[in-house]
Amino acid sequence: MAKIILRPERSEKNSCNIGLPIYLDHNATTQVDKRVFAKVGHCFTTVFGNPASRDHSFGWDAAEATEEARYHVADLINAVPNEIVFTSCATESINLAVKGLVQANKAKKKAIVTSAIEHEAMLGACRQVEASMDGEIKYLPVDRSGNIALDELARSIGMGKTLLVSLMFANNEIGTINPIREIARIAHESGALLFTDATQAVGKIPVDVREDGIDLAAFSAHKLYGPKGVGALFIRGGEPKIKLEPLIAGGGQERGMRGGTLNVPGIVGFGEACRIAQMEMREESERVRKLRDRLEEALLAELPDAHINGDIKNRLPNTSNIAFAGVDARTLIRDMHNIAVSTRSACSSGSQGPSHVLKALGLSDEQAYSSIRFSPGRYTTEEEIDYAIERVIGSVRKLRKHRATMEQS
Ligand code: PLP
Repeated sequence: MAKIILRPERSEKNSCNIGLPIYLDHNATTQVDKRVFAKVGHCFTTVFGNPASRDHSFGWDAAEATEEARYHVADLINAVPNEIVFTSCATESINLAVKGLVQANKAKKKAIVTSAIEHEAMLGACRQVEASMDGEIKYLPVDRSGNIALDELARSIGMGKTLLVSLMFANNEIGTINPIREIARIAHESGALLFTDATQAVGKIPVDVREDGIDLAAFSAHKLYGPKGVGALFIRGGEPKIKLEPLIAGGGQERGMRGGTLNVPGIVGFGEACRIAQMEMREESERVRKLRDRLEEALLAELPDAHINGDIKNRLPNTSNIAFAGVDARTLIRDMHNIAVSTRSACSSGSQGPSHVLKALGLSDEQAYSSIRFSPGRYTTEEEIDYAIERVIGSVRKLRKHRATMEQS
């Protein structure tokens, strides 16, 4: 029988009159923006045609809505619409980029250079390339802040041997941002293409595929206040031409890159979410950064032996990963009860063992198990942050005291 998980109602109130539980897990997913929801709803009931239906206005309307959305998605990253392929999620986009590229380059070079702290979607695709496509993967290590060494990247690429450099724009667990422009330059000097998993970056920080020199990029709607079930792969147009083998064969949709009837409501929602991000990102990121900093400053001031994981200066504005020495993170989350945070990526939270990202930074198992990711977002308020501060401090002190008592007895 399925396990039923009871969740407190969002309407539960505390003395500060805040709706509980408090959501501080925007790197896992985001609530759909009401403006996006309105567009998606209209699409479900009114613009319900199949964009591939060329013989009537229902199809034409759906095609028009899709193309308008494609424009907004492309525009957010300074691409042009025909460089965007819609998929079901970033995971699919990553698989299409990596496996599609290797497949299309059958007889030629197949080496990929990536890093030890990529998302499970990338690592899983790499494992498949290694196991069944005769590919060779090099995993670059990272330092304590989550940064790769650029000279090591250059050495690893090796002149002419590497097909693809794949490094994420920003890490989902610690928020460390890669120097993508530098990385692109190094990759191109050796004749390799650059793919970046930009899932956590798009909508939070500027991503400019032209200025940054990106050849392929993956991202998805549900990380930027759009619906789940829709993602995008940017494939640079122009020369040298990038050839990918589609993973899903079908009716030739998405210029033959991904078969299947398009998810028009999802795509329309994605477009609206990108349009809003384009207008509001700068201001929103600044506001969220202040909330994140308020949280961090209070926790570090009140709790000895609390440390930030990742690159403190060069980080996503909404991400804070903190190790609370002497405390088990899962026990802490249970004790706080109504603060929604996470111990690791939602996509690998089912797996056992400490976070591969924190381990790659050099943390011990115990340090990794004591770490929590906080990721506030568009709807987070100062009152919620203050409430969270109070709860985290209270619970950490209580659990540490309990542990000290147990150790003495
Ligand atoms: N890449 C990164 C960095 C992510 O954070 C995530 C989701 O957590 C993904 C890829 C997968 O995204 P999706 O859920 O759209 O497949």
